[in-house]
Amino acid sequence: AQRIVIKIGTSSLIYPNGNINLAGIDQLAFVLSDLRNQGKEVVLVSSGAIGVGMNKLHLDSRPTTIPAQQAVAAVGQAELMNIYNQRFLTYSQQTAQVLLTRDIVEFPESRKNVVNTLEQLLQMGIIPIINENDTVAIDELDHQTKFGDNDQLSAIVTQLVKGDVLVMLSDIDGFYSGNPAKNKNAILFHTIHEITPQIWDYAGDKGSKFGTGGMISKLNAAKRILLADSAMVLANGQKPQVIFDILAGKQIGTLFC
Ligand code: ADP
Repeated sequence: AQRIVIKIGTSSLIYPNGNINLAGIDQLAFVLSDLRNQGKEVVLVSSGAIGVGMNKLHLDSRPTTIPAQQAVAAVGQAELMNIYNQRFLTYSQQTAQVLLTRDIVEFPESRKNVVNTLEQLLQMGIIPIINENDTVAIDELDHQTKFGDNDQLSAIVTQLVKGDVLVMLSDIDGFYSGNPAKNKNAILFHTIHEITPQIWDYAGDKGSKFGTGGMISKLNAAKRILLADSAMVLANGQKPQVIFDILAGKQIGTLFC
């Protein structure tokens, strides 16, 4: 079966005013459930734990200390899964929560356990919903515990499950020759085969308030995907229905292959 990994960014899940984009999440659940019914295997990598936690706890700004961020993420992760479960169930689709830390990269045994679990879930027709385990992964211990961000995590997951394609949904239509928020003349790349120094240059500018990755991190993910001879499409997650068009081979967003 065709195996599809979808990564959804915080900016597609949380509005700038802090509200949760429930309609968007519902559409995502609809699309992914439909893909399942087409016989495709689906893995979702979802950010948003801190954003959802902030919403639930009525916080106006992101907590500053790491323990506070972890606490808010722990609240938000449970709530996020609650929302996903609810929405996916309307489409008769089962989901599972999988929280990962970097040891899946460092330790072959951990990696094997994760691969076994994911394979089993997919075999059972369940959609794994993956996030980084923020309680274990601490920023300061970057190299040991943290993936960096969910862009990296989604690329690693795609490698682990030998996914055919990683669809990365962001708040932007694709990769441009500059940050479109600042450079009105920036043009959209339809296809990128190689991440040249010039491409890295175009990604220089950091992204939104809620998102953490920015374009550099998306390029790092793409680099990993290219090395693994897989494909990645960076597209706008505002309308999750674009996933249908992407899988139908239409020219949408930026294809890294
Ligand atoms: P997400 O939360 O979806 O992961 P990010 O906020 O991390 O998204 O990254 C997306 C943002 O990156 C865009 O909204 C845009 O402002 C910024 N950006 C910087 N450089 C570029 C570029 N070359 N092409 C497209 N977007 C860019």
